[in-house]
Amino acid sequence: MANTDSQATYLFFAKKLLEWHDVHHRPMPWKGERNPYLVWLSEIILQQTRVEQGLPYFERFKAAYPTVADLANAPEDEVMKNWEGLGYYSRARNLHATAKHIAYVLNGSFPTTYEGIRSLKGVGDYTAAAIASFAYDLPHAVVDGNVYRVLSRFFGIETPIDTTAGKKQFAQLAQQLFEISDSQPPNPQSAIPNPKSKYNQAIMDFGATHCTPAAPKCKTCPMSEQCVAFLEKRTGSLPVKSKKMERRQRFFNYLIFNRLNEVFVKKRSEKDIWQNLYEFPLIETDSLQDSHHFLTKDKTCQAWLGDSDWRLLRSSAPQRQELTHQRIVATFWELEVSADFLLKENGWIATEREKLDNFAFPRVIDLYINQKFLPLELF
Ligand code: SF4
Repeated sequence: MANTDSQATYLFFAKKLLEWHDVHHRPMPWKGERNPYLVWLSEIILQQTRVEQGLPYFERFKAAYPTVADLANAPEDEVMKNWEGLGYYSRARNLHATAKHIAYVLNGSFPTTYEGIRSLKGVGDYTAAAIASFAYDLPHAVVDGNVYRVLSRFFGIETPIDTTAGKKQFAQLAQQLFEISDSQPPNPQSAIPNPKSKYNQAIMDFGATHCTPAAPKCKTCPMSEQCVAFLEKRTGSLPVKSKKMERRQRFFNYLIFNRLNEVFVKKRSEKDIWQNLYEFPLIETDSLQDSHHFLTKDKTCQAWLGDSDWRLLRSSAPQRQELTHQRIVATFWELEVSADFLLKENGWIATEREKLDNFAFPRVIDLYINQKFLPLELF
């Protein structure tokens, strides 16, 4: 049964959460940061990314682009290369576009209101609340996956979090808890200062490290005596989602034409995944190809090869890359072609294999180039 109507319960939750955070807060390089540019940078990097994975990228971007103008003036290929391996590449494109907008349209001034921050490209409700709160002490509660999980479990809320009603309910509850926390007197024993954003930091840290998705540490939880999910043994079924996400499966065959020591790459420009990243010549098929015979039947491949002499050197085992809505299954086919071989369509760049590191590739290609996955099958 949900337990969301008692002011005493709200107060209990807020006090226990802040006390927990006094002891267990996670030190991070961006915590306590007041520079809105750096707060924004950290928040964009951390979207859909674990802290451990995002941390080196934050340090890299902060060092390469100490100000928003530095980021705005950087070449796009360089920004994409620095982002390489972090995934969700639309974030990098939006980051760069937004830096240009702030530098050139807003004359270098980061917006100072929630609405202004929310209007930036790539900034949703959660990110706007986080920046407004961490950089400017504005009273906006964050609601991310951690918050949905903690609140749905503690209060026993079964409203699906991916519905309009659910989003509204959790946003209102989070805001009420934020305001109650904000009205608490500062703790003189606390090891950390008492900024207004403490509640936001506390609930995100608590969700990330204590009330975790698969194995919440209920036995050592300071809130367990009033936690509905714990008392009713429902931690495994909360939060509730209304629909299961179906991932579209796609089969990518990458052809690596070895012409002496050179191979061919091209920038992905179409509106699809991995826009502005580089790739090898691609043939997408509607099923997994487990034999090289498809190379002699596929029309695009035949157009590329024309009358040139070629032979298959090797192929890779299929490799998966999971994206939010798609699963990519990539197979790499290495072909040796003659010295006069040319890809006739526009945009192909012949590059020495040793120079492939200069291009930003999707993760699955990067792993292949660096031979970090399954051994190649030799013919
Ligand atoms: S008791 Fe368990 S489920 Fe409830 S808030 Fe604590 S860690 Fe989360």
